[in-house]
This record gives sequence, structure tokens and C-alpha cells, in this order.
Amino acid sequence: IRVTNNLEAFWMPFTANRQFKSNPRMFVAAKDMHYTTADGRQVLDGTAGLWCCNAGHGRPKITEAVQKQVAELDYAPAFQMGHPAAFELASRLVQLTPQGIDHVFFANSGSEAVDSALKIALAYHRARGEGQRFRLIGRERGYHGVGFGGISVGGIVSNRKMFGTLLTGVDHIRHTHDLTRNAFSRGLPEHGAEYAEDLERVIALHDPSTIAAVIIEPIAGSTGVLLPPKGYLERIRAICDKHGILLIFDEVITGFGRLGAPFAADYFGVTPDMMTVAKGITSGVIPMGAVFAKKEIYDAFMTGPEHLIELFHGYTYSANPVACAAALGTLDTYAEEGLLTRAADLASYWEDAVHSLKGLPHVIDIRNLGLIGAIELEPIAGQPTKRAFSAFLKAYEKGLLIRTTGDIIALSPPLIISKAQIDELITTLGDVLKALD
Ligand code: PMP
Repeated sequence: IRVTNNLEAFWMPFTANRQFKSNPRMFVAAKDMHYTTADGRQVLDGTAGLWCCNAGHGRPKITEAVQKQVAELDYAPAFQMGHPAAFELASRLVQLTPQGIDHVFFANSGSEAVDSALKIALAYHRARGEGQRFRLIGRERGYHGVGFGGISVGGIVSNRKMFGTLLTGVDHIRHTHDLTRNAFSRGLPEHGAEYAEDLERVIALHDPSTIAAVIIEPIAGSTGVLLPPKGYLERIRAICDKHGILLIFDEVITGFGRLGAPFAADYFGVTPDMMTVAKGITSGVIPMGAVFAKKEIYDAFMTGPEHLIELFHGYTYSANPVACAAALGTLDTYAEEGLLTRAADLASYWEDAVHSLKGLPHVIDIRNLGLIGAIELEPIAGQPTKRAFSAFLKAYEKGLLIRTTGDIIALSPPLIISKAQIDELITTLGDVLKALD
């Protein structure tokens, strides 16, 4: 390896972010709610990194757990062998999951968790003699990572169109985002539960007995914090039950306290058959993802007769000891500081704060739930330029990190945010919005 101080050469192979090269922004440290930039500025984290650092940054319990584990047992083979942290973590996790979802399969990212969950769904039906169930249904504007499974069931056409057929037998239901009826509604939209019936439409296009699973994000996060209308998820669950179809909630963003409950499934009172998680499981410190499944589903995949004969599935780093330690330190931090329910305490303060931006130039919708929010801006007619991206750049200059997707600004601060920091975030963002062209 040639060591180079040529930053151009470093960025080119490193960054996945096309905009970065022309406008480099470097973080060199982070503590609690703030990042420190290479030029020594403090930046308030309005996005929990990438929706992941739910416990904030540089938290002692997590750091200590990681340091201790790496010194004690750095790695153990993920197959045939085990180690205590993996078992402890699995048992702690299933105490948090909804009743009946009591098995854990470990992966290393949200994308891997999604791919695993899709495979588990297919294997489950097959183990029950229903191998004809091979179809998977996702939702428009759904984001499920960048693996082949995730982009196939994902509803972002631009992410998959250059890759040809991908998974076969995949279809998508319509999304519920209906600004004409729900603009500026606080919390869950009042209108649109009937969009769930679109699942019946898609099922009817195929033979229902060929459909294995429906995968949706309870709240579509990456595509702009699109909230389910009241009653929508309940109807999706009922339709899946009617047709013997598994329901997978992708809780990579909504998991671990974002809505004031451990999972969106708890918040909405709708229990899926499987859940995919990542991000908040280690508060972003070390890569980890997981699938939570009901026992009969997990068993069909991991211990079913077909497994013994032919099936292999697992990752070298599944339940990596250091990742498990990070997750245990994270769960300790969540428990000690009450972070998994803190968003519920702050929800109405947060709602008022984000909605105080209503009326500012170009703001056409504001959405909120728990400690997640979005400000949707009017598109610039006939131009690809996004006001939201200009807002991101201006906010960064003013010491605030936000996330944008298209014309939408998304907010998901670490769950440790104080009311004063919520005020600061909203004041800065308000100043940024006022200054937009
Ligand atoms: N699913 C959802 C709902 C996500 O938000 C993401 C990441 N933003 C993923 C899957 C993919 O996770 P990863 O980037 O860890 O692969």
C-alpha cells in the first residue's frame, strides 16, 4: 500500500458520496450531541449520524464495553462456535421485542438483515410444504438498503433500474404519501388508511398462494419520513393474515426508541412476523444488523430439515464479539437513561418545535412523530437543483447537521437531545430556511 498525503487520491477510493469531493466536510471527533469538524467547529447532530447514533456520541458505557471486549475476545467463528456476549445480547434483545418475536439472526448491516429476512421468509414457506410462495411485495418509496434483495423489494426505481431483472416475482404497493389531504397534519395523517387496500389489488394480480411476504418500513425514513395514516398498518396486517402472507417490518430506522417505544411495532400495536434492525442496535458505533423472527419461522430456516441437507446462510461477522459488546453497552445506556421511551416524553415538544417552521418560505409540509421529523420544500420548477441540499450546506455552515432527500429535510436527532438543543436546532434551521432562494 502506498501511503499518500494526496487527499484527492484518498477521497476517490474512500467516499461513496459524489458531492463530497467538490465540497469536503470532515468530522474528526464527536461527543454527546455534537460533532467536531476538521476546522475545529462544533456541529449539532440533527440526524443521529445517519439515523443511527440514538444514544449520542462517545458514550462511556459503549466505549468501555468495546474496549474491554476487544482486549478479551476479539473474534470467534460465527459457525459451530459461540461466545457469551452473543447469547447475552440475543436474550436481552428478545426481552425488548414484541411478544412472540423471540429469535434473533445476526447480520452486519440493514441491507444484510433485509436480505436475510427475505430468505428466511421463502425458506419458511418451503419448509411448510408451500414452496410455491416465492413472491415478495414491497412498497413504493420503500428503502431497504442496497443489497440485491433490498433494491428489488425497495421502491426507489432509480436504485434498481440499471440492474435488470433482479429478484423475480417482486411487486410493489402504492405509497400513502398524500400531501393534498395531509399537509401539516401533526403526528399520524388522518387520511389514507384505505391505501392499505392497494395490497389487495397487488395480491389479486398474482395468485395469492404464491406470495411469501410483504416488507414495509412502518415509517418510510430515507425517502422523506412518510408516516402511515391512522389505521393503515393494522389493515396491512389483516390483509397479510387473510392470505397467509408473512409481514416484515423494516425497523432499521424506527427501531430502538425513535418513536418513544422500543420498536414501531410497539408504538403502532401491530406485530409483524419478522423485523429487521441495524443502526440503533449499536448506536452506530460498530456495524451490526439483525432479523427478529417468531420461533417457527426462525426454526424453519436455521434448523429445518432442508437446512441440514443443503442450506447455508450466515456471515463471517454474524454476532462478532466486539459488535455484540457495543450492542450490550448501547442497551445498557438506553436502559439507564430511559432512552427507549424518551422520545415519547419529548414528542409534543418536538411536534410544536418542528411545526413552528410552518409559514417559512417554500415550506409545503411538516411531519413529525416521536423524535423524527421532516420539512418538505417546494421543488424548484424545471430544475434539478434542490433547495433542501442548499439548506443542508447552509445548516452545516451554521453548525447543524441535517439529512436531505430530494426536496425533503429529515430530522432524527440522538435521543439524548435536550429541549434547549431542540430549540437551537429549530432556530438554526429556521434561519437557514429564511435565507433560501
Ligand atoms: N432499511 C432501512 C429502513 C434503512 O433505513 C436502511 C439504511 N438507511 C437500510 C435498510 C440499509 O441499512 P444499511 O445501510 O445498514 O445496509
